[in-house]
Amino acid sequence: MTPIISIILTSYNKPDTIDIAIESVLAQFFDNWELFIMDDNSNQRTVEIIQRYLNHPKIFYFNSNIQDSERYKTTRYATLINNAIPKTKGKYITYLTDDNIFLPDRLETMARVLSKNPNIEIVYSQQLVRTIDEYGRVKRETVRKTYGVLKNPIGLVDHCSIMHTRSIADKIYKEYGNYWDDDPAYWFNGDAAFWNRLTKFKPFYPIPKTLDIALKGTQSFQRLYNHLPKIIPNGTLVKSPSSDIYIINNQERRKIHPEVFEKLKYDEDKIVAIPDPFLFKYNQGVPVDNQVFLNYALFPDQRLIKSPNHPAVYYTQRNKKHLIKNEKAFSDFKFQWDKIVIVSDNLLTQIPSGNLIDDLSMNIANLPDGVLFNCENNFYISFNNHLHPIEKRVAIKLNLPVTNPVKIDHSIFVKFKQGEPFKWQIAFID
Ligand code: UDP
Ligand code: MG
Repeated sequence: MTPIISIILTSYNKPDTIDIAIESVLAQFFDNWELFIMDDNSNQRTVEIIQRYLNHPKIFYFNSNIQDSERYKTTRYATLINNAIPKTKGKYITYLTDDNIFLPDRLETMARVLSKNPNIEIVYSQQLVRTIDEYGRVKRETVRKTYGVLKNPIGLVDHCSIMHTRSIADKIYKEYGNYWDDDPAYWFNGDAAFWNRLTKFKPFYPIPKTLDIALKGTQSFQRLYNHLPKIIPNGTLVKSPSSDIYIINNQERRKIHPEVFEKLKYDEDKIVAIPDPFLFKYNQGVPVDNQVFLNYALFPDQRLIKSPNHPAVYYTQRNKKHLIKNEKAFSDFKFQWDKIVIVSDNLLTQIPSGNLIDDLSMNIANLPDGVLFNCENNFYISFNNHLHPIEKRVAIKLNLPVTNPVKIDHSIFVKFKQGEPFKWQIAFID
């Protein structure tokens, strides 16, 4: 029997919700469907959960086996959908993600509208958006409404809330050579690019009823990308859902081994959650492990260091040690005493000396790297004696101390050149 509806479920590392998504298909009133689970090389836990369903005769599974280093090159779910569509047989095509739940009447309601109205080729419905905190508690619920017949659904309709005919997909293929546009330029809203293609042929027809629930957890792409700048400043601790902790050093990602995390006085509260593809874009540098205490060339930047036998404190930046002139300089830049790393005299003497870090006075010539400044209500972050404007939302995303920045007045501000600003790429309604 040829299925009437083909469901394409894209999956990547959501072990806590993938089963609810699959179960929501099994619970549909309408049962003439086939489900394609397109897995983007998820972790073991996720794959084990999916495997429980693979004996089902209407469920098919494909794994992209994508390597992490390749992950950022396309909008992944668009690529997975493009791989799935040629395998499907249904008259209608519909989409599900691993953090979405179809309500039991979703397939039935949508298929009925499409089959009764041959002129309608795309339907969309309301969506309940449920925001979940890190403990799994519901933080907020909002409804994405329908807005009548839409010729421009971008930003208004999620791809888990639509169904379209196979015939319109075929027309798109004929025109564009593929179905979804998986250009990575659309990573933040891959569906928008597809909506543009669909509406070249037909508008979106509304079904003013909630037919699916979107779960926005802390690992949701949208939340991880929110207010993230294009370039992550050096000295930022980062972690993606499926990665270890890295430090961005000289625009490379260096894995921090757990045994030195404490020793180097890194702070867990400073770790910035970013999406996997964004992290994997960075080249992998030498790991930060016990070797950094033996080989001066490996020692990370933006650390306070001191010998066990001498009171002088230095700040490392760009592979040099910079003496902090006095206690005033130390407190002017809001350095903290409990963040000083004790290193051997041997290592300390090996690290070449750079400029002195002076206190904040009219004579100041050098700024320490990675410090958050505030001048006349604008934020800046320092690198290489430049002040880079940084939007407050970006500074918050990067866990910079926005409530306790280093305040400077205009007379000091004008002594330094301004650098490239750190701007967010996209902000989602949260
Ligand atoms: N996804 C994927 N590969 C990746 C990252 C994400 O296939 O490397 C899929 C994911 O499984 C989901 C879709 O892309 O089906 C959208 O991701 P997510 O739900 O995290 O995004 P959001 O709901 O925040 O837009
Ligand atoms: Mg999602």
